[in-house]
Amino acid sequence: MDNPLIKIKKFKGIRSLSIRIFLIIMIAGLIPCVILHHGILGRYMDNAVTVKTNEVQTQVRIIADHLTTYNYLLDNSSEVVNAELSQLSNLYDGRVLIVNGSLRIIKDTYAISEGKTLISEEIIKCLKGGGISSSLRDERYIEIIVPIEEKQDDVSRIIGVMLTSVSMEGILSSYEYLQSRALLIEILALVIIFGIAVFMSRFILRPFDKITDAINEVKNGFTDEEIKVTDCLETERIGDAFNQLMGRMRALDASRQEFVSNVSHELKTPLASMKVLADSLLAQEDVPAELYREFMEDITTEIDRENKIITDLLSLVKMTRTAADMNVEVVDINALLELMLKRLGPIAARANIKLIFESRRQVNAEVDEVKLTLALSNLVENGIKYNTENGWVKVVLDADHQYFSVEVSDSGIGIPKEAIEHIYERFYRVDKSHSREIGGTGLGLAITRSAILMHRGSILVDSEEGKGTSFTVKIPLTYIAS
Ligand code: ADP
Repeated sequence: MDNPLIKIKKFKGIRSLSIRIFLIIMIAGLIPCVILHHGILGRYMDNAVTVKTNEVQTQVRIIADHLTTYNYLLDNSSEVVNAELSQLSNLYDGRVLIVNGSLRIIKDTYAISEGKTLISEEIIKCLKGGGISSSLRDERYIEIIVPIEEKQDDVSRIIGVMLTSVSMEGILSSYEYLQSRALLIEILALVIIFGIAVFMSRFILRPFDKITDAINEVKNGFTDEEIKVTDCLETERIGDAFNQLMGRMRALDASRQEFVSNVSHELKTPLASMKVLADSLLAQEDVPAELYREFMEDITTEIDRENKIITDLLSLVKMTRTAADMNVEVVDINALLELMLKRLGPIAARANIKLIFESRRQVNAEVDEVKLTLALSNLVENGIKYNTENGWVKVVLDADHQYFSVEVSDSGIGIPKEAIEHIYERFYRVDKSHSREIGGTGLGLAITRSAILMHRGSILVDSEEGKGTSFTVKIPLTYIAS
């Protein structure tokens, strides 16, 4: 079965902000109209009936007194009373019945029922001392029943009842008139509210249309300028966020372009050297075998270098992928470092560098073994590469309850202060020719940093020229997925 909420979401109109604003204004405008209509007209009706009932009751009670005074129940020929009764009847467009104690109709202003007997619950109740009562009949008449009392020796006795039916015509016609006026006003109000709702829904959203147009202009390439819609704070904020996004995109684009040109340059350099070597061999005739050999060795070195650059580039690309590429498992970090240092031992020995490992704690952590090994061996390799004769590289492993740290320090040449902020940049080398000589590509630290960031870790460097460098890597013991 279809979920009704999904159906509402699917209904595109409700998702439109302008339609929502339109509906809110319409509802907010119509609610007071409905309340006023029912509140005022409903109250008017109740009020008009009460006022009329009170008014007629007063008149009827006066006449009821006169009925006793003129002994009307025994003799209904009194002209004064008859005149009063017909006046009352005319005035309120109603009918007056005078009923005696034996329920016989003494007087009927319509002269239809005189002499007949009237049996009615209300009249019997009134005769038994129920007092004055009034009720609404068929929404068209107000019926007022007043007892006719006779006083004898200060004791009053009910001798009859005066039943007056008053027409509600006047009230109803005023009510209908008011209702038609109210309807007219409501239609007018509806038109005005509709107009306001249409205007507001467009007016409020106009700045958003402007900003959409401005974004589209940038998107379609008509302009490259910053967008600014100052109509309201919200659009200004959207504009600022968009400009910042564009700034980031431009910076990314620039860095990508720079990267591509750096890659091309770095890849072309060994190729150019090989070409020069090969050309010079081809240009000579009867090249001695030793020279051939020497040139071929140089060409092999350049091929190795090209290979190293490509391998490093591929490693870097792997490191800049998403967390989904992480192959995380619990790894014995002590064993990982020991194995890594064992592998690097021959390189260190060749350069006469002493490798020292100090483990302050046994550490097991959730890491990607391959990526972390690559990151840390780059640091140790740099320690060996940028060292001095008979120097040392020290690796210290420590941990607290949240992180483990690996400090790689060396007794090497150090990094100049002004270069420190650039060392993680791709292809950056403090001394290009020296780095080239010792087989550096300028990608090692960029790879290391990306790998550590993928582990949600951090890397800090402390270096002094001529004295040595120390890198400290800190990584959470438990892998944080996002
Ligand atoms: P490379 O492949 O050239 O070593 P890296 O990205 O690993 O590239 O390092 C960038 C630059 O930082 C190096 O060229 C070097 O100048 C400097 N550097 C890195 N590590 C050290 C270190 N331990 N001692 C001195 N300089 C270093």
